[in-house]
Amino acid sequence: MKKFLPIILTTTVLLTGGQTMAQSESNATEEQAKQVIFGFGELNPYGKYFTGKSYLKPITTTNGVPMYNVTFEPKCRNNWHIHHKGGQILLVTQGRGYYQEWGKPAQELHPGDVVNIPPETKHWHGAAKDSWFTHIAVEVPAKDGSNEWLERVSDEEYNKLK
Ligand code: MN
Repeated sequence: MKKFLPIILTTTVLLTGGQTMAQSESNATEEQAKQVIFGFGELNPYGKYFTGKSYLKPITTTNGVPMYNVTFEPKCRNNWHIHHKGGQILLVTQGRGYYQEWGKPAQELHPGDVVNIPPETKHWHGAAKDSWFTHIAVEVPAKDGSNEWLERVSDEEYNKLK
């Protein structure tokens, strides 16, 4: 038994080390967040529907497919909400964050991830606790589309995430 112990220890250290490295490689600082290519923008005018501070930069709004650069400070997330009729597409460009649909586990997000949010789906998105997080939000056009803002993501739920 004794001779197997070092092998088990080594394996554990390698696995833990790998996970920590992947996380910290994806984490972004405030300075990095402010230098994103589409711009950092202004304090989000929809801030009352968010916990924490977020920043909004319209990328394009004139040709029927609105796109916004959205930046979340660490721990910031939007309330549960529903995009009615048109859905939303998130293109993750920087940092580490989460997307969660009601009744399902949260999905961790990294740069390059694409999230297709169908219409009429209750969900939230936001930053991890130790990273700034940036995504481009593409609003899928729909006749009479609207957003319905619901309850906050509680600290109790949020703090379960790593
Ligand atoms: Mn959304």
